[in-house]
Amino acid sequence: MLRTASVGAALLIAGSALVSCGGDGNAAGPSGEVTVVYEDDTIKPKDRHAVEVIRKSGVLEQAADWVNESVALPHDLVVKVTDKVPPGVTDAVAQPDGRTIFVPPAFLTQIEEAFGDVVKTVKRPALFPEARFNADDLTSLSTQFIFGHELGHALQRQLQLANLGLEEDAADGFASFYTDNEVGPEPSLAAAILFDALAREEGKLTMEGLASDHPVTQQRVFNFLCYLEGSDPKRFNGPLVGAGYLPKTRAPLCPQAWAMLDYGWWTQLKPHFTESFKEQGDKRQGSAHDHWIAEMKAFEKQIDEFRSAQ
Ligand SMILES: [Zn+2]
Repeated sequence: MLRTASVGAALLIAGSALVSCGGDGNAAGPSGEVTVVYEDDTIKPKDRHAVEVIRKSGVLEQAADWVNESVALPHDLVVKVTDKVPPGVTDAVAQPDGRTIFVPPAFLTQIEEAFGDVVKTVKRPALFPEARFNADDLTSLSTQFIFGHELGHALQRQLQLANLGLEEDAADGFASFYTDNEVGPEPSLAAAILFDALAREEGKLTMEGLASDHPVTQQRVFNFLCYLEGSDPKRFNGPLVGAGYLPKTRAPLCPQAWAMLDYGWWTQLKPHFTESFKEQGDKRQGSAHDHWIAEMKAFEKQIDEFRSAQ
């Protein structure tokens, strides 16, 4: 079972206590590549099933491919599914220089076990496909989102991206940006279901929890759902807001929040697009900008009503 200090707290740790990286990001000619390595001989028998689920799903490789096609990294990034991790690492983490991401097999098993309970005790949200509401698929989909979070850290670190908020928020934002744009709603939904279960496990908030560099776990659930809803309100408002998963007090902010996030990440990545992606990436960034302006204007019209309803 997941205790406070297991997956939940571990996710919270990821990326915290990072020391500053004296990177040399603008060296001549970027050539970095993302590779995924499974160090099978380190993996314990009890964790082999969860690792197989992730390997077969290809979610790590899919994200690595997207970065390789779109972004010119200054350095290689190695993603290691391994039990050979630095001291204290119990969950997926990005190293401070953004050149290694560790995915410990036991962490994948904890996620799989959590979903083993979820599928028996939690009613499937209608938006989540029935055929995928099983522990294996939920594990690979939520891992896709969690890996997006770690990739967000790696990109921030390698590309030395200027950050206007908490780094952990930006990392969560990249997970939403990548999965909602490139994969579909399932990773955000699976992550929301997982974090909701973890928040219930954690129970009462502690001072340390509130003082974390991450938002509290339950808040992250609503952030994941807000970005998803905002990315396509016509499609997601009914199943998320109408069905009661995302409160009406938050929902009016979500289309603009998504538009700012989408524009933000495209703009941050723009100077680093690969040659082959540049034309398409510049177009995406341009239309994200136009969409953000349109959402801002639309929100201006609702602001008095929105504030009066709070
Ligand atoms: Zn993090």
